[in-house]
Amino acid sequence: MAAIVTRFPPSPTGALHLGGARTALFNWLYARRMGGRFIFRLEDTDVERSKQEYTDSIIEAMKWLGVDWDDGPFYQSKRTEIYLSFIEKLVQTGKAYYCTCSQQTLEEKREQALKTGGKPKYDGLCREKGLPKTADAVVRLKTPLAGKVVFDDAVKGTVAFSNEELDDLVICRSDGTPTYHLAVVVDDITMGVNTVIRGDDHLSNTPRQIHIYQALGEPLPLYAHVPMVLGPDKKRLSKRHGARSVLEYRDMGILPQALINFLVRLGWSCGDQEFFTANELKEKFNLESIGRSAGVFDPQKLLDINGDHIRAAKVEDLLDGFRTFASKQGLATKDDTFDLAVIETLKIRAKTLEEMAQKAAFYYTDKVDYEQKASEKFLTPQNRPVLEAVVEALDGLDVSDLKAQEAAFEKVMEKTGLGFGKIAQPVRVALTGSTASPGLFEMIAVLGGETTIRRINDTIGQIKA
Ligand code: GLU
Repeated sequence: MAAIVTRFPPSPTGALHLGGARTALFNWLYARRMGGRFIFRLEDTDVERSKQEYTDSIIEAMKWLGVDWDDGPFYQSKRTEIYLSFIEKLVQTGKAYYCTCSQQTLEEKREQALKTGGKPKYDGLCREKGLPKTADAVVRLKTPLAGKVVFDDAVKGTVAFSNEELDDLVICRSDGTPTYHLAVVVDDITMGVNTVIRGDDHLSNTPRQIHIYQALGEPLPLYAHVPMVLGPDKKRLSKRHGARSVLEYRDMGILPQALINFLVRLGWSCGDQEFFTANELKEKFNLESIGRSAGVFDPQKLLDINGDHIRAAKVEDLLDGFRTFASKQGLATKDDTFDLAVIETLKIRAKTLEEMAQKAAFYYTDKVDYEQKASEKFLTPQNRPVLEAVVEALDGLDVSDLKAQEAAFEKVMEKTGLGFGKIAQPVRVALTGSTASPGLFEMIAVLGGETTIRRINDTIGQIKA
C-alpha cells in the first residue's frame, strides 16, 4: 500500500480555532501513526478575507502545539499556473467547456426557476456549443447528468449524492482565476494526498470534488468526514462559548499537550482512557475509532485535563511557561533551583500555568497580603503563643530536612497541646496570607528557615493584642 499522505489546508481568514486544530491533529496523528506524510497548505485564494496576520498566527499555533509538517506550507495564491494547466487539460479532453452566459441571464433564469418551483441550477446552455476561449467566458466542468456519486467515508459509511442535484460547476472565473474546488482537488492530486480528514461541514463539497477527480482520471482519496465540535449548549462552537483560538488557550496557561489530548478526545476514543501524551496518540490514533456524533466542548474538562498534564510534567518542562506567567504578574522569579522547587510544590493542584503563577506570588515577596477572613480567624491573640512556639522550634533548624521539621512541629504540638491542623493554619496564613497553600513542610523548605522565621515574626508583630 502507498504511504499515507494527509493534509491540513486552513483558509487564513481567521485564527486557528479549536475545530480547525482538531482537524489538523487528526491528520497529523494519522500520518504519524501510519508512518506517512503530513502536508500543510494555506488556502489563501480569497484575497478579500485572507490576511497575512492570520497565516502567521495559524503557523504560530501549529508550532506551539508541536504539530510538525513534512511538506509546506504551500500557498494556493502562488500556484495559479498549476491550476490553469489542469483547467486547460480538462477543456482539451472535453471534460470542461467555456460558457459565456452572462450573470444577468443566469440570475433571470434562477429567479424564474425559483418562481416555478424548479431547481435554481445552470441549465447547460453552453455545454455542447464548443465555444472558444473569450474574455468573458468562464470554464465549467461537465457534471454527469444522471446517476449518483457514491463513496465510502471512513466515518460516515457509504455516502451517496444524486448528480441531478448538481449543475456544471464553474472551475475558472472569467478573470482567469481558478475556483475553490478545483484548487483543492488539484493540490491534493499534485501533493499526493490520499487521505482527506476534514469537518463534515465539507461533506456537501465532496461530490463536486469527486467529479473533478473523475474528469481528470485520478483515483479518489479516502475521505473521513468528522462531526463538528459543539458548545455545551449543543450549538456550533463560537465566541459565546469562551475563547476559541488555540493561542488564546496558550495565553490562559493551557499546556499544548493538554490541548492536544483534550481535542483529540473530542471525537475519538480508545477504550475509556482519558489521559494521552502526544507520543501515545501517535501510536494509537486510528480512523475506525472516530465517533459518529458531535464532540461537545466542556471547558471544565479542559481545565481538569490540563491539571493532569501539569501534574504529569517534569518540573523542568514547566519552568519556561511558569516564568512567562510569573513575569506577566510582575513577579521577579529567581534562579532555576528556587523556581523549580516552587513549581514542585504547586504542580499538584494547579489547573493552569496562570493559576500556578498566581499561587506562587507569596514565594517572591516578603510583603504578605493576608486574606481578611483568614487573618480574622487565625491571626488572633490566642494564636500568638502558637506562632512564637513555631519560631522557637524552627530556629536554627535545617528546614530542607522534612523529617526534622516534622519533629519540630511535634514539639510545638506537645507544648501547646494542639493538633497539627490548629498549628499549621496560622503558620500558613503568616507565610502566604491564605489558608490554602502547598504542603506546609515542602513550602517552608522552599522559603528557607530565615524567611520563614522572619515572616512569622512579622505576623506576630502585627497581631493585635
Ligand atoms: N480550506 C478549507 C477550510 O479551511 C478546508 C478544505 C478541505 O479540508 O478540503 O475549511
